[in-house]
Amino acid sequence: MRNRRAALAAAAAAVSLALTLSACGQNSDGGSKAKTGDVKGATIGVAMPTKSSERWISDGNNVVKNLESKGYKTKLVYGEDDPDTQVSQIENLITQGVKGLIIAAIDNKSLNNVLQEAADAHIPVIAYDRLILGTRNVDYYASFDNEKVGELQGTYIVHKLGLDSGKKGPFNIELFAGSNDDNNTKYFFNGAMSVLKPYLDKKQLVVRSGQTALNKVTTLRWDGATAQKRMDDLLTSSYKSQRVDAVLSPYDGISIGVLSSLKSDGYGSGSKPLPVVTGQDAELASVKSIIAGEQTQTVYKDTRKLAEVAASMVDDSLKGKKPQVNDTKTYDNGAKVVPAYLLQPVSVDQSNYQKVLVDGGYYTASELK
Ligand code: BGC
Repeated sequence: MRNRRAALAAAAAAVSLALTLSACGQNSDGGSKAKTGDVKGATIGVAMPTKSSERWISDGNNVVKNLESKGYKTKLVYGEDDPDTQVSQIENLITQGVKGLIIAAIDNKSLNNVLQEAADAHIPVIAYDRLILGTRNVDYYASFDNEKVGELQGTYIVHKLGLDSGKKGPFNIELFAGSNDDNNTKYFFNGAMSVLKPYLDKKQLVVRSGQTALNKVTTLRWDGATAQKRMDDLLTSSYKSQRVDAVLSPYDGISIGVLSSLKSDGYGSGSKPLPVVTGQDAELASVKSIIAGEQTQTVYKDTRKLAEVAASMVDDSLKGKKPQVNDTKTYDNGAKVVPAYLLQPVSVDQSNYQKVLVDGGYYTASELK
């Protein structure tokens, strides 16, 4: 009897907790509970970080295209790499009555208050490419296997220098990482270092500047000019009588900055060949640079597919369906593990850009001329 009463009380408590959570706009897993039902013609807010990088322009356009093909209206905003601007843009979108939000965060920790407003208004939130940290009010995450991105960059360097086919080195390498307020930064860096570290430990790879810790090599807001300046400083301080053989760069805009610095120092002419320089995003300028024999590699991420995944996540959430995910373990944002769908990145260099980027329809041959 006693047990039965206790069981009944527990069941009643569970129902009441579920009702409370749903009344305050939360799923039991902490995401915002979408108001399902008639979503035809609803408007979805899309907040992207910056127009200064091509990839985000394509992302924005592709997300809009996918949402429109599902019958939604859209409002697309760019925060120009300023976290406060992005917060007020999202606030405005909520005030304007959007029914769903897709957000590529500028600063992964600045969105907690505004996402509480989204949850209160029952707006599902999809973290786009970059995980939003420290809040339960993010429902799903659409991205790429970010650790794999770094692994591809590290593996490329090892292979291109011949370390994996018996060359002993030592080779000089310098390391660059992304913005410290982007959650992806540590995944890219750790992925690359998991491949490079054994060679660093054996001194087959040497970082002459000594700057190997992540907090010494980040590049605020992924800014190419900042990276160029740091490369200038590294060349002056550590490469007066030595040559750089490789540069780990996490993003094409950083690679272009690094290459400008190297070229001003005489690399790429005469007896001073350019080092191996990695990248990410297959941005047009970098693909052209790869074809011209300057940047060596980039990591291609098909943003058309990412946009499709994110648009489906919002659509499913609003229709009361469970979005498809393929990772429910990796992306702990400090408040919950956010269910994610991760796509696969692809390493691209001179040998396969034609097949991957042109035959794959990402660029036309004439765009690359
Ligand atoms: C993205 C990268 C991009 C970088 C700079 C990261 O969050 O995952 O694809 O290169 O931001 O925009």
